[in-house]
Amino acid sequence: MVKQEFKAESKRLLEMMINSIYTQREIFLRELISNASDAIDKIYYKALTDESIAFNAADYYVKITANKEGRTLTIADTGIGMTQEDLENNLGIIAKSGSLAFKKENESKDGHNIIGQFGVGFYAAFMVADRVTVTSRALGSAEAFKWESEGADGYTIVPAEKAAVGTEIVLHIKPNTEDDNYDEFLEEYRLRSIIKKYSDFIRYPIKMDVTGQ
Ligand code: ADP
Ligand code: MG
Repeated sequence: MVKQEFKAESKRLLEMMINSIYTQREIFLRELISNASDAIDKIYYKALTDESIAFNAADYYVKITANKEGRTLTIADTGIGMTQEDLENNLGIIAKSGSLAFKKENESKDGHNIIGQFGVGFYAAFMVADRVTVTSRALGSAEAFKWESEGADGYTIVPAEKAAVGTEIVLHIKPNTEDDNYDEFLEEYRLRSIIKKYSDFIRYPIKMDVTGQ
């Protein structure tokens, strides 16, 4: 397993992102939910023009699971997923947006509502997490891959198992410090209020499950 290095510019950009672009930490959840929604929208869009893809609304949702004991917050979606190459390009290159590319490729046709464009939102996860793992299986592929990073130092990608197409992002929530409380991002009422505030307009259901005290 070889650890890939972020390019120097990317490292600086990522540090800047994590430390200063966002004044509100809580927006990490908006960013991850908007990515999940975009991923579902891409299947929805493809289904409009490809009869072999069925779009049954009940199968498409975002699920947020908080595990207080394990200090993990998981954001899972049943969207289009990412191949190994997508993981490298879209999560390994800061400011590269697969969603912007998708919009450009499909500009002439309507039917999607894709939000992403700047290619930086994902990294907001590192404002609340000291480790992030992304396990993804792309539409049309039997293989899955796991991308993992602890922040500016780089990331790894290894083969993984995933039963269904889509993406599962696990945030290992930072420990509290004297000045900063991160536990709140494992609390159901807090998560619900963040979702209400920023993600009320999302077209797909957002389900929630919280375990532990
Ligand atoms: P943006 O959403 O502005 O493109 P992000 O940094 O939030 O930028 O995400 C970068 C890219 O990573 C997206 O454009 C998309 O291609 C890919 N991506 C991120 N999250 C997911 C996901 N849950 N499912 C599929 N692709 C994703
Ligand atoms: Mg985004």
